[in-house]
Amino acid sequence: MTLLADDSLIIRAWQEIAAKAISARATDIHIEPQEHITLIRIRVDGYLHVLSKQNKSLHERLVTRIKILARLDIAEQRIPQDGRVCIGLELNQADIHCRVSSLPTLFGEKIVIRLLPSNLTELALDQLGLLPPQLALAQAAIEKPHGLVLVCGPTGSGKTRTLYSFLHHLNHLRSNLCSIEDPIEIRLAGVNQVAYQPKAGLDFPTIIRALLRQDPDIMMIGEIRDQATAELTIQAAQTGHLVLSTLHTQDALGAIDRLQHLGINSEALSSCLHCLSAQRLVRRICSNCQGKNNNCELCLGNGFFGRLGIHEVIPFAGDLSQAYCAGASTQQLRQQALALGHLNLLSAGLIQVHQGLISEFELHRQIQ
Ligand SMILES: [Zn+2]
Repeated sequence: MTLLADDSLIIRAWQEIAAKAISARATDIHIEPQEHITLIRIRVDGYLHVLSKQNKSLHERLVTRIKILARLDIAEQRIPQDGRVCIGLELNQADIHCRVSSLPTLFGEKIVIRLLPSNLTELALDQLGLLPPQLALAQAAIEKPHGLVLVCGPTGSGKTRTLYSFLHHLNHLRSNLCSIEDPIEIRLAGVNQVAYQPKAGLDFPTIIRALLRQDPDIMMIGEIRDQATAELTIQAAQTGHLVLSTLHTQDALGAIDRLQHLGINSEALSSCLHCLSAQRLVRRICSNCQGKNNNCELCLGNGFFGRLGIHEVIPFAGDLSQAYCAGASTQQLRQQALALGHLNLLSAGLIQVHQGLISEFELHRQIQ
C-alpha cells in the first residue's frame, strides 16, 4: 500500500468512528489498546457499549491521526496529554467540539474523546427535568440580583449543564456575565469564559480576583474545591454579585457541611446563600416502546433512551436559614426541609417513576 492510500484509510476509519458515535448520541469515545486488538467503545446515557474491535496494527496510526487533529505532540508517548478536536457527521462538517486526552497504558496509548454538547436549545431551563414547583424556585433564585446559588451532586450528575442553563437564561446585554471553568465545555456567546490553567498561573482564586476587578454582575465558578475559592465565592456573593457554583456532595444540604470544612462560618453563608440544589441523571424509559420492544428502532432494544434530571431544590431562607444560624445539624435541616414540603431526590424521583418516565430500579441505582 502506498503511503497516501494508507493515510486515507486511517482518515476514513477515524471519520467512521466519529460519525457512528455522534449518531448514537455518545458523550465519550474510548480507544483502548489491548494485547491483540484495539477496542473502540462509546458511552451513551452513562453506559459504555462496544462500537468495534480494530486490528491492533491500526492502533498507532489511528492514535497519531487523532493526536495530529488535537495538536498534541505525536513524538511524546510516555506522558499524558490533552487537547481539543472538532468532529462531525461528515468529514468537511466538523461542528462538534471535543476534548481529547491521551494516556500511556500497558499496551499503548489510550485515547478518550469527550464530545461536548453544542445544541443551545437543550439549555432551556424547562429541559433540566425540574418539577414545576422546583423550576419556579430555581428561577426565582437565579433571577435575584446578588447572592449565592449552589448546585450539588457527584461527578457525571449534570451539574455543569445546569449551570450553563442558568447562565443561558440570564444571558442578556444588560449584564456582565463571566465564568471560570475547568475546562470550558460549552461556548456561550455573550459570556466572558475563562479557563482554569494552573500551569499558566490561572488558578480559581487568581481568576476570581481578576474578574472581580472587571465589574461583573453574574459569575459562574465551575466548582468550589478549596478554601481560597470558597472564601472568594462567599465574598463575591456578599458584595453585590450573583454567584453560581457547584459542590461535589451527595445532596443539597451536604453543601453546608462541605463549606464549613472549607472554613466558611454560618454567619457568612446565611448572609448570601439563596438556594441549594442537588441532582442525578437517570436513564429514561424509551418513549417509543416503553422498554417493551426488542426491535425498537429508537432505543435499539435497550429499553432506555436519553436521561432525565432528578432534582432537589431547597430555597435557603426563613425558618431553614434561622434554624441553621441557631446551630441546627445538617440532619435536622434535612428533616425541616422535608417538613416544609421540599422534595428530596428520592421523592422527586418517585414522582417521575409514577409518571412512567423512569424505572424505580434505575432511580435507586443513582441515589443509593
Ligand atoms: Zn424503544
